[in-house]
Amino acid sequence: MKIGFFGVGHMGGPMAANLVKAGHEVVAFDLMPALLETVVQEGARAASSAVDAVAGVDVVVSMLPSAGAVRGLYLGGQDKVDGGVLSHIDKSALIIDCSTIDADTARDVAAIAQEQGRVMIDAPVSGGVGGAKAGTLTFICGGPEDAIDRARPVLECMGAQVFRAGDNGAGQLAKICNNMLLAIHMIGTAEALQMGADHGLDPAVLSDIMKASSGDNWSLDKYNPWPGVMENVPSSKDYEGGFAVKLMNKDLGLALQAGLSTQSATPMGNLAKSLYAAHGNHGYAEKDFSSIQRFFRHKESK
Ligand code: NAD
Repeated sequence: MKIGFFGVGHMGGPMAANLVKAGHEVVAFDLMPALLETVVQEGARAASSAVDAVAGVDVVVSMLPSAGAVRGLYLGGQDKVDGGVLSHIDKSALIIDCSTIDADTARDVAAIAQEQGRVMIDAPVSGGVGGAKAGTLTFICGGPEDAIDRARPVLECMGAQVFRAGDNGAGQLAKICNNMLLAIHMIGTAEALQMGADHGLDPAVLSDIMKASSGDNWSLDKYNPWPGVMENVPSSKDYEGGFAVKLMNKDLGLALQAGLSTQSATPMGNLAKSLYAAHGNHGYAEKDFSSIQRFFRHKESK
């Protein structure tokens, strides 16, 4: 298939490379032309403009930083890139937006596409840069069932699992529910490990005990925030790599915005957002989100 790919940053770059590896013809576009060089080396073609990237394609994939960028790309407006590309996309093509954005924007843009006779789905991902490189992302989709079935073979070149959460926007909602819970159990895990250590317990032994007990959770088991308890996780690499605090803050902001619109009670999400905002402001914005462990650290410890 011929695929137009927008946004070849940390996530989009390796995702586009995996599409090339799977045998697809990829035409890539990014506002930062230097980033295109890497995907060109992988075998993609660099588009000369956003409109060039959608000419004659079967599928459009976008992996952009924000809702404003998604609106700007497809509809034009403030973040204008040659005007909106939506009207330049062939009506038989499938549009897949993998960016993490608010559900309302995802629904709005998909509805405008539908009015024009075009099909668009939201397909945000879980799995981070490691998953994007390894082609093991989880895609959490929202949109018509038949459109998601059409997207499946393309998404499976970049990921291991494809879920349909519901109609347009539902993919975004399911993703932020997950990330709100992730922030909460990471903070709770860090808090428990610090209290144990303060009382002289070995965090590695305490982790083993909690993993075999009712406190077991993904943050403890797969992504332990205490340095040295697990190898090859950000906590053992000075919290480098992984999922940045600033991105967790973005997702928590989206979660609270979603909660507000339905009057849902999100006390733990609110607290998590406040803690991560403070943590980011204390110099940790670029560090992995498991660095919240340092938030609980006593001043005199290293
Ligand atoms: P990034 O900033 O590295 O990449 C985004 C790219 O989009 C940039 O290269 C930027 O120049 C480009 N861009 C912006 N507007 C554009 C436009 N109109 N046309 C073409 N290119 C445009 O961001 P990232 O880390 O790759 O994240 C992308 C999305 O994936 C975000 O929505 C993020 O929340 C989500 N996400 C990121 C991670 C992660 O670990 N990095 C994990 C899951 C989901």
